[in-house]
Amino acid sequence: MSDCIFCKIINKEIPATIIYEDDRFVAFKDINPIDKVHFLIIPKMHEENLLTAKNDLATREMFGEMLMLAPKLAKKEGLEGFRTMINSGVKGGQEVFHIHFHVYGGSDHLRKI
Ligand code: 5GP
Ligand code: ZN
Repeated sequence: MSDCIFCKIINKEIPATIIYEDDRFVAFKDINPIDKVHFLIIPKMHEENLLTAKNDLATREMFGEMLMLAPKLAKKEGLEGFRTMINSGVKGGQEVFHIHFHVYGGSDHLRKI
C-alpha cells in the first residue's frame, strides 16, 4: 500500500526506531508513547484491521505469532508486565489502517479496566 505510513516504515521510506524485524513482522517505538515503554508490532503484509482480516488458518497463525512477539519484545525492552491493545476501525479508535498491536507498560499507575 503506497500511501500507508506503516508500509513506508517497513520499506524504510520513513524513519522509525525499529526494535525488532524478521521476514514477517516489524516492531517499532510509537511516536507518541502513552507509557514509559510503548511499541507497535505490525505484519509486513498490509492488513487493515481485525474487522477486515480473513479468518483463515494462515491469518490466525500470523496473528498468533505476532501476539507471541509481545512478551518476548516487552522483556527485551525491560518490562516485567505490559498491556496490549488493538484498535479496530474508526469507532474503535484506529487511526492507522495497517493492523498493529500496541504493547506498553512501565508506569506504576495502570488504571484497572
Ligand atoms: P491507532 O490509533 O491506529 O491504534 O494507533 C496508531 C499509533 O501509531 C498511534 O499510537 C500513533 O502515535 C502511532 N503513529 C502514527 N504515526 C506514526 C509514525 O509515523 N511513526 C511511529 N513510530 N508511530 C506512529
Ligand atoms: Zn500498510
